[in-house]
Amino acid sequence: MNQTFRNILIFVGCLALIGVTLSFVNLDNKSQRVDLTRIARDVQDGNIASITIRGSEVEATLKDKTVLRSTKESTDSLSTVLKNYGVSSDKVLAVPVDVKDGSGASYWLGLFLQNILPVAIVIAFMFFLMRSAQGQNNRAMMFGSTNVRDMNKDGEQKITFKDVAGVKEAKEELSEIVEFLKQPDKFTQLGAKIPKGVLLMGSPGTGKTLLARAVAGEAGVPFFQISGSEFVEMFVGVGASRVRDLFAKAKKEAPCIIFIDEIDAVGRQRGSGVGGSHDEREQTLNQILVEMDGFEANNGVIVIAATNRPDVLDSALLRPGRFDRRVTLDPPDINDREEILKVHARNKPMASVVDLRILAQRTPGFTGADLMNLLNEAAILGARKGLTEIPMQMLLDSIEKVLLGPERKSHVMNDEERRVTAYHEAGHALVAHLLPHADPVHKVSIISRGRAAGYTLKMPTEDRSMRRREEYKEDIAVMLGGYAAEFLIFNDITTGASSDMKSATRLARNMVTQWGMSTELGPRVYGEREDMISLGREIHESRDYSESKAQIIDSEIDRLISEGLIKAKELISNNLQAMDRIVKALVVAETLERSAFNEAIGLPPANIKNSST
Ligand code: ADP
Ligand code: MG
Ligand code: ZN
Repeated sequence: MNQTFRNILIFVGCLALIGVTLSFVNLDNKSQRVDLTRIARDVQDGNIASITIRGSEVEATLKDKTVLRSTKESTDSLSTVLKNYGVSSDKVLAVPVDVKDGSGASYWLGLFLQNILPVAIVIAFMFFLMRSAQGQNNRAMMFGSTNVRDMNKDGEQKITFKDVAGVKEAKEELSEIVEFLKQPDKFTQLGAKIPKGVLLMGSPGTGKTLLARAVAGEAGVPFFQISGSEFVEMFVGVGASRVRDLFAKAKKEAPCIIFIDEIDAVGRQRGSGVGGSHDEREQTLNQILVEMDGFEANNGVIVIAATNRPDVLDSALLRPGRFDRRVTLDPPDINDREEILKVHARNKPMASVVDLRILAQRTPGFTGADLMNLLNEAAILGARKGLTEIPMQMLLDSIEKVLLGPERKSHVMNDEERRVTAYHEAGHALVAHLLPHADPVHKVSIISRGRAAGYTLKMPTEDRSMRRREEYKEDIAVMLGGYAAEFLIFNDITTGASSDMKSATRLARNMVTQWGMSTELGPRVYGEREDMISLGREIHESRDYSESKAQIIDSEIDRLISEGLIKAKELISNNLQAMDRIVKALVVAETLERSAFNEAIGLPPANIKNSST
């Protein structure tokens, strides 16, 4: 859009220029374009000092120095023409006539400006348009040349290990790489071979990209970044030649770092056929392998790649001599979270009461990117309110915003909807409160957030990497608490419970098929997943069990779910008064913080941890 606009502007500018130029050409020496009759009359009157003829151009200079211009037919001579206009022949003879053959510089210049220049400008304009049209597709047209960026040169601020909080092991591993890039001799003297490839693995937002840049920043070497998806383009073969180009550029700049972000876009298991266009991917991948084998281990180019799906990578990439160094970035624990918050709070003025430790406590499961986002949300909120420092409450509110999406206060519920939502959320909260292993309730609200009508926020009291079957069973009961409440109170179900059912079913399925938590089915995995569950989404599953096992799986899932539902219903129907108290408080206040909730429910929490913090 912008481009086109600029071109049009250029075009209009050119036209204006031509106009001005042409008018200058015509008006030189105060010349006047006139009829031939006028010249004839002046000849007759004896006003003419001289006449110059160039081809068909007639230029008559009067005695008062005015210049008249006109055109005649080039075949007839001027004298014939004048005589035809009735000028007497002695008057014609009295005027000195200078015939030029039309090759004068100014004649050609005039010709050029009047005839050729406009054409040239139109052609140039078309050329412009075509170029800009190509610009949209530029990357497809520039076959094979990479638009790699040397981030350290691009004037962006330099990132060092100081900017990366937590991930201590990863930083230790990588500081070795930094040392090599700084003093290669130290290593080569002892005959050590430095790894060519380092693979950073970790869930999205754990700081892989950040850490790779920090390595380059620490070592002070050029950093060429390209994303795996940039290799995969319109035409087969582009990716491969881009790889060649990238490595060629990097070798010239050695020592340096090549960073291939999201390498799983090209480095997927070959021949698996998932995701289409794998011809192109395979060629690109092969080229990466060839290039990595092609350079000497110690020439100072180190390839760092990042992925959140190491399980799908082709084994050829992981072979020794390629990405044989693997560095895992774990989601941050509470101390790391505090460190990350400190890093990102550096340039944000905080109120003196702000305690980042508490914030870290309240954010289990948050990645570095989430935490950065949290502080940013709070800063934006503070700025919009015109504050000069960020208060603690704003930070706490931002946790929920990051977790659940923004509040939709404008979403108007009628009284009936509010009542149903209140009972639904009260059901979740009550069940969570009364089960010993469930996470304590932090907040209950009937204000819509994101797509949910209301929400119940539970927070684990500590970071956990391992969980027990009993806990999961209780989780299912809590998830179905809303459904159970609607069913018991209204003897009816709304659509509000559908996402609860989805997550309960998914959890039950994982317990049965992936985690060996069903005694009936035993310690076996059912269905080969194309993904590691610990790293996020699951894709597709190939079935590697018999029909009879499938039936047992189904019945086991059913059993877990119905047990959870029975538990939830039991807890709710035994505590209907507590339930009503929560609902009443919710309808009035819309949101109950932890203490208000505990007061409203009036029952001691089953979870011992619940009472402590
Ligand atoms: P990934 O590449 O693993 O998906 P990024 O490196 O792009 O994640 O991280 C996104 C943002 O999150 C970073 O720009 C940074 O601001 C923040 N972040 C993530 N991890 C950390 C960390 N360990 N320390 C400081 N900031 C972090
Ligand atoms: Mg990244
Ligand atoms: Zn619910």
